[in-house]
Amino acid sequence: YHSKIHGMKYEMYNSDMGHSICKKVILENDIRKGLENKEFYVHYQPQVDAKSNKIIGVEALLRWNHHTKGIISPLEYISLAEETGLIIPIGEMVLREACKQNKTWQEKGYENIKMSVNISIRQLQNNDFVNMVLNILEETKLDPKYLTLEIVETLVAKNMADISAKLNQLKEYGINISIDDFGTGYSSLSYLNDLPINSIKIDRSFVSHSTYNTKDQAIISMIITMAHSLNLSVVAEGVETNQQLEFLRKCGCDFIQGYFTGKPNGPIEIEKNYIQKLEVTQG
Ligand code: C2E
Ligand code: MG
Ligand code: MG
Ligand code: MG
Repeated sequence: YHSKIHGMKYEMYNSDMGHSICKKVILENDIRKGLENKEFYVHYQPQVDAKSNKIIGVEALLRWNHHTKGIISPLEYISLAEETGLIIPIGEMVLREACKQNKTWQEKGYENIKMSVNISIRQLQNNDFVNMVLNILEETKLDPKYLTLEIVETLVAKNMADISAKLNQLKEYGINISIDDFGTGYSSLSYLNDLPINSIKIDRSFVSHSTYNTKDQAIISMIITMAHSLNLSVVAEGVETNQQLEFLRKCGCDFIQGYFTGKPNGPIEIEKNYIQKLEVTQG
């Protein structure tokens, strides 16, 4: 039995072995160790203005270089990190890194680059969340107007009133709030009413089918019209082709994010290839 557990260490976490509890325990342990050993770091993906093609900001994306397995996608461990509460220290690390990086860019004179950071509902449920964010802004001396929190809904949120109160507090400091993967979570529409948001991100699933599926085109166009009538700006995610970009432009989409305009990369590469040029023509 022992050797069986040992053997599992070398399987991918999502392999179908039927020992999901064991796998979870191993993964949880690996996340803890990974945090201690600084295996987690942050990449950045350009967000560009749909009209001018100029880079207006970046999204911070968590990366994990596991000591034996190599790079593991956040999709494989975010939900367990939420379940175990480990998303709290991970999320704090990402926010700190991202704010530090943005401040560095501000100081270099790249003053119009904004920073979006993914925040899970589980982090918002933590009592210390507002303080944590304000402390990091103070510590890094980043002007809150540059920071956008992308709210990712991966679990059912019960205490929306509490979450909304916290976001309202942060918004008063000048922080921007965005709804991520808009159109996929069943409560997306109620979020528009309940949360103090500035923008929404159209989920990649609509964008990727928009070149041949007229239903997805109709949904995109409807989301953009609705968002604008609510005074929200719209970011399209997962834009991979010029055709998709042209369609989104035609619909009046404000900002574009995707492999076509720039893949996620380390801060040095992003600065050299996008921020220094302040203009993006294609990916
Ligand atoms: P997301 O916030 O919707 O981030 C966009 C994801 O789409 C990223 O995947 C990005 O690499 C990918 N992407 C961007 N453009 C394209 C494209 O043109 N084509 C395709 N196929 N993919 C594209 P990634 O980095 O694997 O992250 C996956 C998800 O994990 C994120 O989705 C977000 O929900 C979550 N996540 C990532 N970092 C964090 C974090 O720091 N905290 C939390 N709570 N969640 C995070
Ligand atoms: Mg996001
Ligand atoms: Mg998204
Ligand atoms: Mg997404």
